[in-house]
Amino acid sequence: MPKKKTFGLRLRTRGGMSVRKQWTRITFGMRGSHRCPRCSSRSVKRDSVGVWDCAKCGYRFAGGAYQPSTKTGQASMRIR
Ligand SMILES: [Zn+2]
Repeated sequence: MPKKKTFGLRLRTRGGMSVRKQWTRITFGMRGSHRCPRCSSRSVKRDSVGVWDCAKCGYRFAGGAYQPSTKTGQASMRIR
């Protein structure tokens, strides 16, 4: 019986591990301060999904849902 218990526990941990890891990474990255593209101070905070607000200069810009600048966004900036 103890063997069966351990197996079930291991399975559950394995199933949720990658998701939980990713979630932690995203949330921590989201909560940390980000560099403002206008005044380059690290006081940019997420206002809502995809909207970022700089507390210092009041600059508001659209970015990624969880990070102010995404690889796709940087690519589109280069094109323009
Ligand atoms: Zn700023």
